[in-house]
Amino acid sequence: MFPSTQKPHARLAPSPTGSQHIGNARTYLIAWLSARSQEADITLRIEDIDSPRVKAGAADLILEDLRWLGLDWDHGPIIQTERLSLYEDALRKLKAAELVYPCTCTRGDIAEAASAPHLEHEGPVYPGTCAKRSVSDAATLHRPYAWRFRVNGAPEFMDGFHGPMHIDPRNIGGDFVVWKSAQTPAYQLAVVVDDAAMGITEVVRGDDLLTSTPRQLLLYQALGGQAPKYIHVPLVIGPDGRRLAKRHGDARIASLREAGMKPATLIGFLAWTCGWLAKPAPITTRDLLPLFRLETIPREAFVFTPTMLV
Ligand code: GLU
Ligand code: ZN
Repeated sequence: MFPSTQKPHARLAPSPTGSQHIGNARTYLIAWLSARSQEADITLRIEDIDSPRVKAGAADLILEDLRWLGLDWDHGPIIQTERLSLYEDALRKLKAAELVYPCTCTRGDIAEAASAPHLEHEGPVYPGTCAKRSVSDAATLHRPYAWRFRVNGAPEFMDGFHGPMHIDPRNIGGDFVVWKSAQTPAYQLAVVVDDAAMGITEVVRGDDLLTSTPRQLLLYQALGGQAPKYIHVPLVIGPDGRRLAKRHGDARIASLREAGMKPATLIGFLAWTCGWLAKPAPITTRDLLPLFRLETIPREAFVFTPTMLV
């Protein structure tokens, strides 16, 4: 079903749900440097299927941010909402194999039924309330339902940054949603269909997605296709230890650009946070290529305060 390719192929996969901040820039920079140092092709993919969260104009701003930073790409932008039929094909395949079942649970139902402690990112573990249903039961349901994938086990994998990963199956949240409602595939399904269809060989992304990877590997097993190498890199956080957000001050790339910062200044700052420069100094993405190494990136999240950049 999916092409297999020898040529290294990476992707940048931003979600147009708001302005990109320096944490996003750091991850894209690492992804770009890793790709370009292997002479990989890069595809830019706009992950806009989560429509309630998508913001008008955000995708254009992302392209502007990436160009300004000096992060180029060879293919795309590819827009996920234009690829629904591919995701529908994959869902059909999962249904034919009875690997999914219709789930009518609301968030409230799940929170109530779940005895397991809530997971930090994933919410409560799905208690399996609807798992006894088969695919054909969907026709008898008279309320909205999602399609859930039957999880059995969490595949281990070798992360290109964190090393061997053995994630406890309980930490991946149980049977997970692959299709939210009419016309709305879930992230886990869309990302696997796209990475496989594009022949992506390397995925560099934030390590908040580490627990998504076993789910994506299960989908590769179900759908066929060669899983990429995964490299999960630490996030940028605020001084309170939480993910970078508005309350931490303005760390948006667009704001820095509008304030007159030069891209080389920001790249040099990010390069310093990754251990490629001894101190922040202006440098272009091209000039950074020979200095790029994954090993020097600190294991811990980088703690950012906006005063660092003034
Ligand atoms: N679109 C996702 C994000 O911006 C990234 C997904 C991925 O890299 O797999 O968080
Ligand atoms: Zn359910």
